[in-house]
Amino acid sequence: ERLVSSEADGQESYIEQSLRPQTLAQYIGQDKVKENLKVFIEAAKLRSETLDHVLLYGPPGLGKTTLATIIANEMGVNIRTTSGPAIERPGDLAAVLTALEPGDVLFIDEIHRLHRSIEEVLYPAMEDFCLDIVIGKGSSARSVRLDLPPFTLIGATTRVGLLTAPLRDRFGVLCRLEYYNEKQLAHIIERTADILEMGIEEDGATEMARRSRGTPRIANRLLRRVRDFAQVMGAEIITNDLTIEALERLQVDKLGLDHIDHKLLLGIIEKFRGGPVGIDTISATIGEEAHTIEDVYEPYLLQIGFLQRTPRGRIVTDLVYRHFQMEVPNND
Ligand code: ADP
Repeated sequence: ERLVSSEADGQESYIEQSLRPQTLAQYIGQDKVKENLKVFIEAAKLRSETLDHVLLYGPPGLGKTTLATIIANEMGVNIRTTSGPAIERPGDLAAVLTALEPGDVLFIDEIHRLHRSIEEVLYPAMEDFCLDIVIGKGSSARSVRLDLPPFTLIGATTRVGLLTAPLRDRFGVLCRLEYYNEKQLAHIIERTADILEMGIEEDGATEMARRSRGTPRIANRLLRRVRDFAQVMGAEIITNDLTIEALERLQVDKLGLDHIDHKLLLGIIEKFRGGPVGIDTISATIGEEAHTIEDVYEPYLLQIGFLQRTPRGRIVTDLVYRHFQMEVPNND
């Protein structure tokens, strides 16, 4: 398991439950999204209506599930949670929809992975709160329209580009979550340390934040690992020195890069003079699948400007040479 992966592993989702903020006020960062949602929630409550359907998109671990839970809390309604891959047949979705109470939030994670035939069941449900179901088979088959209670659909996706236009168009509110800055991550780390009843010094939290790849999930995970070190060493408080020592031992460098990032970047430098090099060639050289490189390894490296995508392939930037204290090649 990769320590700096932005995906939750199985056990972790359980631990994360207890770390989730419950209200918009407790949710750190994403100010624009928060301000807008606050207005929409207040307006819906004033009119005693359900909130418009909301689409949350952005990289894993930035707080989409957390925000969905908070929206339901702020609206004072229940949330039912499912995911694109969990809904295999139209009947599965019909079962979920008919079990909703008026005003409920239905949260569908990884909504881009919904099957087309299931999406079509969702359209009238989102638009008119009704369900068209077919009863019987062959010539005796007929369609029956069922009314549903009004509800709010919250969809979450890491790949908004994969959503079909008709589905995307049915969301009234679109929210794009951004990577967090160091200050916000330090704040999140301090909040989590409080919940875990572990003291942390401000510069320790800042150092940890710097290595968290802009992602609260990673920040919380690094904190839990550093806490292990602190407790085994009998330290009562996480200091800056302890943070640095623990994260060096865990091989998470100053920018949150690990051995896989190093292998990728140094591979391009050593074997392809810094690029450009095609993704398939990189894949063959470092022995990782091309789509894993694109979906998992690359996004953060692109985000911090270490990699550039060009029509001729990937290029490492000068920042990489400086990061590894290597001489920047002269390309003139
Ligand atoms: P996503 O659904 O986008 O993958 P989650 O909502 O599961 O991300 O968030 C991952 C973890 O990060 C959760 O444990 C949550 O407590 C924490 N987290 C995410 N966003 C925030 C935030 N804005 N403030 C505080 N904690 C956050």
